[in-house]
Amino acid sequence: MPLFEFECINCRKGIEDSLTLIQKKVDKKVLTQLVSKFDNIYRIEVIDLKNKKIVADYGKKNADRSILDFYFEEGAKVVFFNSENYRFTDLIYDESDKEKIKCPFCKSKNVEKVFSSFAFTSDLSTNMPMPDMSGLPASVRKNMMLTGYVEEKDRPKKNR
Ligand SMILES: [Zn+2]
Repeated sequence: MPLFEFECINCRKGIEDSLTLIQKKVDKKVLTQLVSKFDNIYRIEVIDLKNKKIVADYGKKNADRSILDFYFEEGAKVVFFNSENYRFTDLIYDESDKEKIKCPFCKSKNVEKVFSSFAFTSDLSTNMPMPDMSGLPASVRKNMMLTGYVEEKDRPKKNR
């Protein structure tokens, strides 16, 4: 069954907008505003990596949620967002399922399909697919070392 990855545009925008603002100005007041404005963000921490100190932090950590990190000022500073992940996965069996896709957090249907990092395969066999050699001239074909070996677990039952 096809497993697809989506990003909630609404939740993602909260992170993106916060990041834009933090890059311009960062203090506790800014972080306080952002955490209260965006429901999907629980805590923000900005660390000065060069001077090894916390620039500002605000919010109550949600230990069950992920932490996204973004580097800025050429890697001199990092901001950590303890937030809901705006990326989620869903299964799509048929066209009508696409209508039902919504963000598990904010329930927004304004979602974007992203290139999935999950491999989808209908065949769980670990064997490499065999190339189609029917188009190759016989002189080439006879030099190719392709065996028809199939791992035992993948053989049809009658051959076991
Ligand atoms: Zn959302």
